[in-house]
Amino acid sequence: MTSKVFEFIDREKARQDKNVELIASENFVSENVMRAVGSCLTNKYSEGYPVVRESGNKGRYYGGCEIVNELEEYCCFLWKRVFDTDYHVNVQPHSGSSANLGAYMSVLKLGDTILAMDLNNGGHLTHGSAVNFSGKLFDMKFYNVNAQGYIDMEDVRRRALEYRPKLILAGASAYSRIIDFAAFSAIAKEVGAYFMVDMAHIAGLVAAGDHPSPFGLADIITTTTHKTLRGARGGMIFCRPELAKKVDSAVFPGTQGGPLQHVIAGKAVCAEEALTPEYKEYIHQVVKNCKAMCDEFLRMGYDVVTGGTDNHLFLLDLTATGLTGKAVQDELDKHGITLNKNCVPNETRSPQQTSGVRIGTAAMTTKGWKEADFVRVAGKIDSIIQEMRRSAGA
Ligand SMILES: *Cc1c(COP(=O)(O)O)cnc(C)c1O
Repeated sequence: MTSKVFEFIDREKARQDKNVELIASENFVSENVMRAVGSCLTNKYSEGYPVVRESGNKGRYYGGCEIVNELEEYCCFLWKRVFDTDYHVNVQPHSGSSANLGAYMSVLKLGDTILAMDLNNGGHLTHGSAVNFSGKLFDMKFYNVNAQGYIDMEDVRRRALEYRPKLILAGASAYSRIIDFAAFSAIAKEVGAYFMVDMAHIAGLVAAGDHPSPFGLADIITTTTHKTLRGARGGMIFCRPELAKKVDSAVFPGTQGGPLQHVIAGKAVCAEEALTPEYKEYIHQVVKNCKAMCDEFLRMGYDVVTGGTDNHLFLLDLTATGLTGKAVQDELDKHGITLNKNCVPNETRSPQQTSGVRIGTAAMTTKGWKEADFVRVAGKIDSIIQEMRRSAGA
């Protein structure tokens, strides 16, 4: 029997093969990740955890789990090696958002205060947006970036002292610079707050040593596995060993039911790959490509938020062009170049329009692109933008 669904999949595959993919949160997984995620493991129920711990975890609630028990333990073992850590890891969160919900629920009560980065300044929806569970369930306070677009650590400290949050959160979806985890950790200590890092975007750089590691500094670390880590779509939570029981029970039974063992298999394949020298080379190339493309935009006279990048992404501030992020995104789509509109610091337009775009190099580097390829596409984006300005002026 055939299914109409495979027509959609074939068309999407063709789109992915053809387009220039510059969305900073996307990547292309390996055949092995794909095989694991598309496997019979999707049939298996396995609520609970593989080992019965003294801490009180009761093992699995279903029979037939002997093989997925081994799989999940193997997955956890590998991820601790990837980040060279003795932190506890929970590989069950279905997504980065679920990981953040589990992390909050592990150490906070409803209504507790969280200090995080504003969505408009590069934070994530789950860092306190009013339309998200985070903004509805917790008392969210925000720190700012300075006029150049850097996280303002003075502002973080001032607000931490003022609001006395239970948890301070570092991590972002649209921030192109190194985050000073040590400085955040010191402020959290000073005010007696938990320190949480959401490294969803930069986890691959942390794994490859291209961004300072939050391990040893943060109490809880969440991540996605599908961005720079280039694995199955999903989330994970790491924590100091003494928080293991709280985190595990916040994930199950707190906020999720049965884990997705096919996705856990995909996460394990991803970890195997992240441990190879080839993966580290790949991440180094992602960062080099990003710098080369960003430098080309600067050379052509564009405004880049913070004036550059340290990681796999950067933000173009289009204010001086008079064009909105939305208009540029839509026009580039017509030319087979995919990226997303993004707010810039001190944004004056609505989140539906925005004054900027976000550009990332992780996906096309997987396809083998080098510096010269990204410089070339920067030139193409510039000529499309110039054409848009000419027709807007006409
Ligand atoms: C992408 C992202 C998430 C959420 O991931 P989903 O899997 O889409 O739920 C969480 N935090 C940050 C910082 C992110 O960039």
